[in-house]
Amino acid sequence: LASSEASVYSFHGQSVREERPGIIEGQGVMASNGSASSHITLNNGRQMPVVGLGTWQAAPGVVGAAVDAAVRGGYRHIDCAYAYFNEKEVGDALQKLFKEGVVKREDLWITSKLWNDHHGPEEPFKCLETTLTNLQLEYLDLYLIHWPVPLNKGYTWPLQPHMFDTTRSIKEDTKETWQAMEKIAESGKARSIGVSNFSAKKLEDMMEYAKVVPAVNQAYSPLGTWGTSGVKINLLDHPLLTKIGEKYGRTPAQVSLRWGVQMGNSVLPKSTKAERVKENLQVSDFSLSDEDMSELEKLEQTRFLQGTFWVNDSGSFYKKAEDLWDGEG
Ligand code: NDP
Repeated sequence: LASSEASVYSFHGQSVREERPGIIEGQGVMASNGSASSHITLNNGRQMPVVGLGTWQAAPGVVGAAVDAAVRGGYRHIDCAYAYFNEKEVGDALQKLFKEGVVKREDLWITSKLWNDHHGPEEPFKCLETTLTNLQLEYLDLYLIHWPVPLNKGYTWPLQPHMFDTTRSIKEDTKETWQAMEKIAESGKARSIGVSNFSAKKLEDMMEYAKVVPAVNQAYSPLGTWGTSGVKINLLDHPLLTKIGEKYGRTPAQVSLRWGVQMGNSVLPKSTKAERVKENLQVSDFSLSDEDMSELEKLEQTRFLQGTFWVNDSGSFYKKAEDLWDGEG
């Protein structure tokens, strides 16, 4: 991400939280405030646990076990989405945990995301209902617009001809969709609402009509999303992460996650391996020194997932990746 981007946006006197991605070699700027707590307070006063389990590309058949291991191991935040196509199994795992008395619904933070083919004034309610049915929950803690990319009904990925809904501009589409999200918040079915993959420019545009300021603009892939989505750089192999990790007796993954937490952000590591799930939660019991945060400051911040699957010369609003991010990197 561009070094000028703050982790908390301020709009109309309220803050929009950003969950940050990973880091790679190069130039960049990171703050080192040294402090971290187990929760983040959103602009509506709600408390979101800083470490959440990611569930993207956690395949059916294993995602339930990952959620089970995570909650039994102390996670209280699960990051889901309609388009991960695994919410039913996540829901089954949660029900089992509730029934066994491992955790209560009110002690968990569950996020999900509105998929691109359900934008507009009415469709968001239908997408939310499907998600709630699959997760077997009465409400979400956080509901996000997944991408500023309207698609025709029934489309997910990969990119296909005619999948983009170009009947409205991005601005109009976002306005209609956000106003539906506000009604969802009013209904209590989502206690906080926000966005994901939005540039600062798109957030600014929303301020022309938003009655509710987004509580979160989700960024992600705090471990560099290695092994998924064709990403070729293995962040966790970076020698600086190894070197700093050795100093604290921590793994490169823990250093990367701790950096995110110490920056004041929440992090959403995904793993389906019980040992890693456990390892990724152990980031609140050590602090990186100012010196080490400065070392990490020298590394470039980048978006591992560029959203290039939404870039298309003929069909999409976005002809190049810079258009999607409004030139913000
Ligand atoms: P992560 O950065 O969390 O990396 C996941 C990869 O790292 C997997 O290959 C995983 O393998 C591996 N891994 C996990 N823990 C460790 C460890 N301790 N040591 C070594 N390797 C490890 O990638 P994601 O892209 O999944 O991002 C995290 C979450 O963010 C997603 O799951 C999703 O919930 C959210 N997200 C949201 C997006 C959005 O558009 N809003 C887009 C992308 C992600 P294994 O499972 O085999 O352990």
